[in-house]
Amino acid sequence: MLILGGTSEARELAAALVARGVRTVSSLAGRVSSPRLPAGSVRIGGFGGPAGLAAWLAAQRPRAVIDATHPFAAQISAHAVAACRAQRVPLLRIERPTWRPGPGDDWHYVPDVAAAAQLVPRLAERVFLAIGRQQLEAFAAVAECFFLIRCVERPTCPLPPRHELVLDRGPFTRAGELALIDRHRIGALVTKESGGAQTEAKLLAARTRRLPVVVVRRPPRPPAETVATVAEAVAWLEQTLA
Ligand code: NAP
Repeated sequence: MLILGGTSEARELAAALVARGVRTVSSLAGRVSSPRLPAGSVRIGGFGGPAGLAAWLAAQRPRAVIDATHPFAAQISAHAVAACRAQRVPLLRIERPTWRPGPGDDWHYVPDVAAAAQLVPRLAERVFLAIGRQQLEAFAAVAECFFLIRCVERPTCPLPPRHELVLDRGPFTRAGELALIDRHRIGALVTKESGGAQTEAKLLAARTRRLPVVVVRRPPRPPAETVATVAEAVAWLEQTLA
């Protein structure tokens, strides 16, 4: 089984399959220097585009591929669709359910981080930027705001002139997020539409403090057979392998 990973769902799936005696290879992009490693075998680094992934599938002949990557990892998901089709390997995607605003929430959906960077100065002067580190450059020219930037690893791109960096890895708690928001007198939050429970605490805290939230929409991914949970993926695999 090839698991395209880099998420908590991918680690949960690897653990569940290894416990059932299934041989798994989890694939990580290699973005973070000390990743949390899943159970089973692990390979790290890109495949070299859809053709590289197809060649890997041809050589290794996994029974199925599970795309358990993050909803914003659109490129590898597209490569998985193309390569699995070319090699006739069954493909399943785990796509965590998205978040929905609750009563009283002041959410502003934007199509991408560039639109988020344009919008934030109109919402608040002190902004909690929780979008990871890969797309922070979009905010580098926003001088009107102070940004509290939280990510797992130190960013390498240009950052906005007024910022503080917090290097931390979730899961986070609502109480912890509230403390962070209060300590830095945050007036707005920027998040990706990642979904799932792991990173939801910041939204619960923003709701409590009645903060406006800028939500960057998920990029489109090509259609694939999709389930929402690891348990559904295990059930699908049991059927596929039977
Ligand atoms: P991406 O834009 O879809 O992928 C860019 C390239 O990175 C791909 O073309 C592929 O290189 C390589 N790659 C990505 N995921 C890979 C994997 N699991 N195994 C092997 N190669 C992979 O992906 P991304 O947004 O940079 O995300 C990279 C990884 O971080 C993913 O595993 C994802 O699950 C995880 N992650 C991403 C986010 C996010 O917000 N984007 C958040 C949390 C975790 P080749 O073309 O050379 O094969």
